[in-house]
Amino acid sequence: DTPVVTIDGPGGAGKGTISRLAAQRLGWHYLDSGALYRLLAMAAQRRQIALDDERALAALARQLDIRFGTGNDDSVWCDGEEVSAFIRTEQAGSHASLVAAIPAVREALLQRQRDFCQPPGLVADGRDMGTVVFPEAPVKIFLTASAEERAERRYKQLIAKGIDVKIGDLLADIRARDERDTQRAVAPLRPAEDAYSLDTTCLSISQVLDIVINKVQE
Ligand code: C5P
Repeated sequence: DTPVVTIDGPGGAGKGTISRLAAQRLGWHYLDSGALYRLLAMAAQRRQIALDDERALAALARQLDIRFGTGNDDSVWCDGEEVSAFIRTEQAGSHASLVAAIPAVREALLQRQRDFCQPPGLVADGRDMGTVVFPEAPVKIFLTASAEERAERRYKQLIAKGIDVKIGDLLADIRARDERDTQRAVAPLRPAEDAYSLDTTCLSISQVLDIVINKVQE
């Protein structure tokens, strides 16, 4: 069986960075499941599909043409267009969390996510990787950090990109998204029973990465 390590947690806890680096270090594939929800919300808006039109969204989720760059290449393609800049905005994240609350959408994306599990292995990053998509994964990590720390990290990233934001707005966004992700009826954000929970508030990226790699190699 192809090994899978799942890395779940709230937005801004460092899952993306850690998962990408862990996949590079292990030489495994990487699934950015949040990008699927972000892409779906973006593609729906371009087609003028309302973000609460459950049937249309589920149908779109099944047929959407999505491709990811591999290795160091973090580009994301939808309908033949490179869209990573569009899907990385705060607004795309909020829209993603709206479509992600729809059960038929999650169902439609389930097999597409499992298809990423290819030899030699997969690092799967999201909210429900360990609980729903890969419940049999031998290694499950749940990354957290305080909301303030997550807002701070996001703030630094955006400022470094020359994007001017208010840290208070980021904190409010993070809290709203946490609330929606943990309170929704389907696949709410929570650690799998057999997950290893890691609070990264006071840890560096390389410390977290080492802990994750050690868990995989244990
Ligand atoms: O991880 P990212 O911030 O890209 O995810 C965007 C949104 O997509 C999350 O706030 C969450 O609502 C949703 N999501 C999800 N299940 C996943 C990944 C993301 O519900 N596995």
